[in-house]
Amino acid sequence: AASLDQLSLNNSFAALPPDFYTRLKPRGLNAPRLLHANADAAALLGLDPQVLGSEAFLRVFAGLDPLPGGDTLAAVYSGHQFGVWAGQLGDGRAHLLGEVQGPEGNWELQLKGAGLTPYSRMGDGRAVLRSSVREYLAGEAMHGLGIPTTRALALVVSDDPVVRETVETAAIVTRMAPTFVRFGSFEHWASRRQPEQLRQLADYVIDHFYPACRAQGEGAAAYLALLREVIGRTARLMAQWQNVGFCHGVMNTDNMSILGLTLDYGPYGFMDAFRLDHICNHSDSEGRYAWNRQPSVALWNLYRLGGALNLLIDDVEAVKAALAAFEPQFTTAFHDGMAAKLGIGPWRPEDESLLDDLLKLMHEQRADFTLAFRRLGDAARGQPQPFLDLYMDRESAAAWLQRWSARQALAEGDREARAQAMDRVNPLYVLRNHLAENAIRAAKQGDASVIVELLQILKDPFTVQPGAEAYAGLPPDWASDLEVSCSS
Ligand code: AMP
Ligand code: MG
Ligand code: MG
Repeated sequence: AASLDQLSLNNSFAALPPDFYTRLKPRGLNAPRLLHANADAAALLGLDPQVLGSEAFLRVFAGLDPLPGGDTLAAVYSGHQFGVWAGQLGDGRAHLLGEVQGPEGNWELQLKGAGLTPYSRMGDGRAVLRSSVREYLAGEAMHGLGIPTTRALALVVSDDPVVRETVETAAIVTRMAPTFVRFGSFEHWASRRQPEQLRQLADYVIDHFYPACRAQGEGAAAYLALLREVIGRTARLMAQWQNVGFCHGVMNTDNMSILGLTLDYGPYGFMDAFRLDHICNHSDSEGRYAWNRQPSVALWNLYRLGGALNLLIDDVEAVKAALAAFEPQFTTAFHDGMAAKLGIGPWRPEDESLLDDLLKLMHEQRADFTLAFRRLGDAARGQPQPFLDLYMDRESAAAWLQRWSARQALAEGDREARAQAMDRVNPLYVLRNHLAENAIRAAKQGDASVIVELLQILKDPFTVQPGAEAYAGLPPDWASDLEVSCSS
């Protein structure tokens, strides 16, 4: 295990030409305090866990000292926001510290909230404690669910004031990902008609993250292969989001990872009461990013990526054909996931109405998304009551359950084995808004204990954990007043 200055760095993004980024220094926090450091993420870097408590660690992740061997920069990108071309964006409050070569792969380390960059536009370069706690927890929660995501290494706080609707305090989250390149990074060069930079970016992404695309040939063939891969990963990611009732909240093209990772946790939400058209982001008045629209929005975003890459591919029909593969890939992954959640073995076309009717029932009666699926496992064990308790209209719920039961009887395996398999895909614990809010309230008092507990529980969200009942229950009444928005 290494100390900070024993880490080995590669900084491959910084080796791209200078027009991809601006080298700069972060502006650190005053009198910073480490609220939490994530030993699991540190292990991915090969970092000695002892280092997490050190002054040197605090100073680097408070934005005060550079990462030894790093090459700090803010990257430029563009994008479509809420369906509208927004032009140039970029890391307005993110600083890439460098790329660490970990034992099983490389990780870029990025500060979020460490001050102004040339891409800050009207922003202040800061992030408030509230949104930083939410981002810190979300990456680890998604990872625990087995969903591709950025990770989080450290959460540093300070009394520095940050003005939003009220005056809040500043924090810096350090995020990790193999790369933070987004769809918008490609749109950037395409919109400027700079195919040479677009090619450099595509080559960079292929060489580092999609080397198999080279087997399809050089030039256009490799770029088309890249597009196909990103389409496949994004389709599978959408299926995973839908299968756990996750809403991203701001699926702008600049928040879409080229690796198919869940990226940029702002006003996200795991649904409590299920609504097909649930909107988690209070700023999304049109419901563009409602739960049931996420897959089609992802495809819309992929069209923007395809349009950008077509500058290199120069074959609209081939690009369209690649995009046409999104829907079947999404649907297959979604159905496979739902078949596992329902415990009905391989998906059959006639299962569509069984699933649709469940979702309709849950929607109409606002059943809790997480518990509705989890308690199907109890029903599979012959205890239907907990499932039925989630519905006002028990008769409709019982009628559906009977159809499901008949369908389940056709699946292989004994009852207990089936129920256990269901429990392995239907989480008991998700990062509900009120749980994140509890963590925020404690964090404001300098108390990281709720963060510690949540990380422990969400690491293994499928297994019943003693003493964790409060984390598995329906939200309390006060949670219905919680609003999350783009303010962060
Ligand atoms: P988002 O939709 O939150 O990912 O943000 C969109 C763009 O706004 C990105 O380019 C961010 O870097 C930038 N941005 C958001 N908040 C701030 C801030 N407080 N200061 C500077 N830039 C920001
Ligand atoms: Mg963003
Ligand atoms: Mg954001």
